[in-house]
Amino acid sequence: PSRGDNIADLMRHNLGPREWDILRRAGEAAAGLGYRVFAAGGVVRDILLGAGNLDVDLVVEGDGIALAEALAASGEGRVRAHRHFGTAEVLFPDGFKVDVATARVEYYEFPAALPRVESSSIRQDLYRRDFTINAMAVDLNGEHFGDLVDYFGGREDLQQGLIRVLYNLSFIEDPTRLLRAVRFEQRYRFTIEPQTLKLVQEAVQREVLQRVSVERLWDELKHILMEPAAGKMLDRLDRLGIWPFVFPGVTYWEVQPVLSGLDRAIKMLQDWDFLDGVEGWLCYFIAALHWSTPEAAAELCRRYHLNKRQTEKVLNSVQNWRQVLSTVWKQNNHRPNSELAHLILALPREAYPLLLSLLEEEWMRHRFHQLLLLIRESRPTVDGKYIKSLGYRPGPVFRRALDAVWQARLDGQVKNSDEEKAFIQEFLRRHQGEI
Ligand code: ATP
Repeated sequence: PSRGDNIADLMRHNLGPREWDILRRAGEAAAGLGYRVFAAGGVVRDILLGAGNLDVDLVVEGDGIALAEALAASGEGRVRAHRHFGTAEVLFPDGFKVDVATARVEYYEFPAALPRVESSSIRQDLYRRDFTINAMAVDLNGEHFGDLVDYFGGREDLQQGLIRVLYNLSFIEDPTRLLRAVRFEQRYRFTIEPQTLKLVQEAVQREVLQRVSVERLWDELKHILMEPAAGKMLDRLDRLGIWPFVFPGVTYWEVQPVLSGLDRAIKMLQDWDFLDGVEGWLCYFIAALHWSTPEAAAELCRRYHLNKRQTEKVLNSVQNWRQVLSTVWKQNNHRPNSELAHLILALPREAYPLLLSLLEEEWMRHRFHQLLLLIRESRPTVDGKYIKSLGYRPGPVFRRALDAVWQARLDGQVKNSDEEKAFIQEFLRRHQGEI
């Protein structure tokens, strides 16, 4: 094991002041209790990479819950303890969260004359992890603060850009690691190390993913779909033969052209500010299913327990994208903007990346952008309050009047709020009878 590398300077550089402060205080709290405490897992990897990671995971040789309580007391935090597992979360008033786990001390009975030995419990804890790059820790104790704990060559693999399991049965023991291998490989543009790749292929051939609960599978799949490079990850899943286990019944090559452009499409729409508040993973989910029948799409929504609202968005998109595409981008199309806007707005925004990715020509993407801008800028300035101020009582006609003025704006018939008001008064006069 390489003990001795001290990365305290890197920690000070690459962690925020808040994380740094928490780690110092965790070390002090442990000293007070006579425990040893480490930061472990992804946070260590990301300190070494210089990539921001705000998830602080602590591992304690000692009583993790007692340490969580001491840490909480040092900063007005609250503790949520799971006594059964010896784990706890510390929640600070500023929303900062720290996960604390207990590294159990394990005793091994050796045969013959050898004594009972206590194996280092941080080592045991790290050995249970997925890949070498995720199996490092940093000592937080007193004079050892910042000492890197790297039993399995994680730092070396990080430098070489390699994803490597710690033991041969790793994927058999936990098949969700197959998805994690792809996620880390593509996220950091690393490579799955040759021996590990062989184990991946063996595990896929043995169909180990069939044994994983749908909940755990979805949890890892969703992690992939939330990554900015999800499209590349899905492609890798296909090349490794994993795709059919996560999207059963969906033929990858039918959706590949769209998925391969989706990372970029999402990035563009985000840059144009049209995806605020949108669940990114749902954009990928919709794109992956756009070629499926509504029945098959509904089946996958059920399989992964999407809620009603999410399922509706998927089905709406799957059923309607073709019509939107063919109407809006027809050559020599002379339909009014309001009609095109109406079609686009009937789709959930989660389907916009799919549309954009399907548009092959630059002029088509340009037109989509122009329409989205027009829709945004045409939002009328008058609202229901104005209609009320004219003495009308709220009713269905309010909605219709506001829709009508909005259409008129989209089609350029009214241009400012005075014209909007005149338009509304005229509209209400014409619909006297219905009010
Ligand atoms: P991210 O940057 O995506 O949050 P992370 O490494 O923090 O990456 P988590 O899923 O939060 O990912 O897991 C935290 C740590 O727990 C990992 O770094 C790894 O050490 C360990 N871990 C998580 N899932 C597994 C697993 N299935 N098998 C083994 N170890 C795991």
